[in-house]
Amino acid sequence: MLDVQRIRADFPILQRTVNGKPLVYLDNAATSQKPRAVIEALKDYYERYNANVHRGVHTLSQEATDAFETVREQVARFIGARHSEEVVFVRNTTEAINLVSYAWARRVLQPGDEVIVTEMEHHSNLIPWQLAARDTGAVLRLVPLRDDGTLDLDRYAAILSDRTRLVAVSHMSNALGTINPVADMARLAHEQGALVLVDGAQSVPHLPVDVQALGCDFLAFSGHKMLGPTGVGVLWTRREVLESMDPFLGGGNMILQVWWDRAEWQEIPFRFEAGTPDIADVVAFGPALEYLSALGMDQVRAHELELTRYALARLREVEGLVIYGPQDAESRGGVFSFGLGDIHPHDIGTVLDAEGVAIRAGHHCCQPLMRRLGVPATARASFYLYNTPEEVDALVAALGKVQQIFGRARATV
Ligand code: PMP
Repeated sequence: MLDVQRIRADFPILQRTVNGKPLVYLDNAATSQKPRAVIEALKDYYERYNANVHRGVHTLSQEATDAFETVREQVARFIGARHSEEVVFVRNTTEAINLVSYAWARRVLQPGDEVIVTEMEHHSNLIPWQLAARDTGAVLRLVPLRDDGTLDLDRYAAILSDRTRLVAVSHMSNALGTINPVADMARLAHEQGALVLVDGAQSVPHLPVDVQALGCDFLAFSGHKMLGPTGVGVLWTRREVLESMDPFLGGGNMILQVWWDRAEWQEIPFRFEAGTPDIADVVAFGPALEYLSALGMDQVRAHELELTRYALARLREVEGLVIYGPQDAESRGGVFSFGLGDIHPHDIGTVLDAEGVAIRAGHHCCQPLMRRLGVPATARASFYLYNTPEEVDALVAALGKVQQIFGRARATV
């Protein structure tokens, strides 16, 4: 089991108070907090070896390049990639998916080809496919959601066909917490000759994720949701696919030779990293990966599973509270979207904030999903490795305050 009190001591921000109350940070699906090792690594980089990478012969540049490339290898190990060249650094999950949409999909998709997405996708894994479909004449198909918050896999099998070129699916929903069976979905897609993109923004920080076991072709995720700094995302792509792709952005760093009228591209992954990358943040992502690896992702998942079981039980005690998504802990992560009668989620969020409890309220970048649920927005509490059962209690107590303020009667409407 995780020693959560020891872990908490590594996160300076968790010591602070908000509105006179100890901070209870339950907005981890939006971004995670950072351990001291990550914050120190940023400072250390700027104080000791700040320089541009991949081009300088001087010592600082070599040190910066070594540190940067070491993190690429760490990322590859973390997700079970065979080759570190399969790891492309981008800004975030959104950019990773757009890279695939521009550098792969727009070259491959023909009119009438199909891209399958699901009803629970974040806008980041929907809009890039809408745009690619608009530009190529391809068609978007949708895997519907069942009422229990899981995907209708029979419908998925039915809409897959030899016209399917890509299946783009999130591994874990940021709005429902649902964990999707992406390995099975990938196997079925490959039988039809389609490639598979997994949006790992919520899964890579919270579950053991191995790209070989998933059998996907692309995996996108963000460092900032897994203890790392903002500004670093990863696109992992199976080598043969990445090698077949043209650049997305042109400029420095991504070329071998340039003439006035043409250029030859660099090898992967540099072909996809035009311009000066976010060196400091990539370097500081290293200690975040080390931190998670030292704890063990299976332990992180086990801790969150326990918290999820406890949160499900405690939240069910709150009169009038509806939890969206799967009702059993095993099929979900520690992301709880909920409603409380007709109290607006923003009002819930504001009252909770006054109690020091940070949650999110809104559509969570999933407007079509909100329409499917029949609500404009939800309140969302999301957990991570430093959260405790006592913080679940604090959330439930603060929800009691919400009911006091807005009236229990309205909450049970
Ligand atoms: N996909 C999912 C499932 C997410 O939860 C998020 C972040 N909320 C994203 C994509 C986008 O991540 P980013 O904002 O870091 O690009």
